[in-house]
Amino acid sequence: MSESGVVIVGGGMVGVTLALLMAKAAPTLPVTLLEAARLPPALAPGAMPSYTPSFDARNTALSRRSIEAFKDLGVWPQLAPHATPIHQIHVSDKGHFGMARLNAAEEYVDSFGYVVENAWLGAVLLAALRQCPSVTLIDGVQVTEVTSTGEMAQVRYRPAAQMSSSMAAASDPSSASINAPMSASDDITLTTPLLIAADGAQSQSRAWLGVDVRSQPYGQTAIVTACETSLPHAQVAFERFTADGPIALLPLPDQPDAIDAAQPGCRRSLVWALSDAEAARVQALDDAGFMQALQQAFGRRAGRFRRVGQRHAYPLALMVASQQVQGRAVILGNAAHSLHPVAGQGYNLCVRDALVLSAQLAEAHQQGKDLGDAGDLATYAAAREQDQSQIIRFSDSLVRGFSTAQPLVSWLRNVGLVGFDVLPGAKPALARYAMGLSHV
Ligand SMILES: Cc1cc2nc3c(=O)[nH]c(=O)nc-3n(C[C@H](O)[C@H](O)[C@H](O)COP(=O)(O)OP(=O)(O)OC[C@H]3O[C@@H](n4cnc5c(N)ncnc54)[C@H](O)[C@@H]3O)c2cc1C
Repeated sequence: MSESGVVIVGGGMVGVTLALLMAKAAPTLPVTLLEAARLPPALAPGAMPSYTPSFDARNTALSRRSIEAFKDLGVWPQLAPHATPIHQIHVSDKGHFGMARLNAAEEYVDSFGYVVENAWLGAVLLAALRQCPSVTLIDGVQVTEVTSTGEMAQVRYRPAAQMSSSMAAASDPSSASINAPMSASDDITLTTPLLIAADGAQSQSRAWLGVDVRSQPYGQTAIVTACETSLPHAQVAFERFTADGPIALLPLPDQPDAIDAAQPGCRRSLVWALSDAEAARVQALDDAGFMQALQQAFGRRAGRFRRVGQRHAYPLALMVASQQVQGRAVILGNAAHSLHPVAGQGYNLCVRDALVLSAQLAEAHQQGKDLGDAGDLATYAAAREQDQSQIIRFSDSLVRGFSTAQPLVSWLRNVGLVGFDVLPGAKPALARYAMGLSHV
């Protein structure tokens, strides 16, 4: 079998992260990354990053383990100016007595993690990726078929009429064998010993590979926006549970147009999960009405909501692929497991998957082994099973346990929260989840 590189379908948060990790762990192993969206060119100094489907208006709470990975990749110095640390996590239950606090200092760490805007994460990671000679990034293309036979996996994609100029130079996927198209409208076929399907929760690659997915809609939609409050965030992350769904209010870096430049540190990221019907109702409100509804649901712990940005809606479901390895393909990222954002764990879990996978592939490459060796891929899947199932269960039970108004359940969870605040050992255990250190 001729040595060719790895092909990743999907240049979202996880595909890009894996490509970077592979470039670092195995700089001589070619990687081709195919992304449907046109990716923005390198950011001009002082410019704000634009959105792509994955690096969009959301903000991501990065665990300490993810930040360690970014430090190892050498991208943290570029990301840190756009990230805000979390020094305290404050958990409460609307209308009930229970409340718990986690303090970073009590866990002997300087922070639980950092919050970063996805658009900045994209700008920094993509800039780093463009510096990796082993990675060929092809954007603005639609993958139209993925197959995996015994000997090889194949990916067919359709190029857009014209590739972005920044990417045109990178459009020679010397990393994988390629059948050149006769015309721009012809599909191109890449042959690879290992295909990574990282094309998101609605992954077509997963379907083409014949992998089933278990999908359980939560009946909730997350409304995501940035907002400004009258009180500074003081690096506190709030998680407030209501019968309709959880509200996460996380600290964000300031922007130059803050309402009150004399009082910095009031910008926050909001992820407000509501029943689908309630979400549609509050989305239809004007900004003043929306802030009033939010104030009522969240209370006064952050002071008054004084400004809110553009709102974006994300329907929420738990999705888990029935298998993460199929022939010469690995299903990764949201294509493998897509979680409720309540605990800010989805991407962090994917980073840990990508860390293990990239290390394993680097070793196989170094030893001249077949990258798609069935035994090795099974070893990867087995190595990730425990961390994944714990985090999936943890996130899911938080949503289900707190999204009920049943008096007994609500009393129990409040007793739980109080107990959690005073019980020795409970906080460090949860803190390790929050920091992404539960398993690696
Ligand atoms: C509201 C919200 C808040 C969140 N907050 C956090 C948080 O604080 N912390 C955390 O750890 N996680 C968080 N997450 C989870 C995190 O966003 C996801 O885990 C992450 O986006 C998964 O990235 P991905 O690359 O797997 O998938 P996606 O982001 O869906 O990216 C898939 C990529 O594949 C491309 N693609 C799709 N089809 C094709 C095709 N046929 N051909 C080529 N390309 C294709 C798409 O254009 C896209 O770029 C949050 C999620 C939500 C919804």
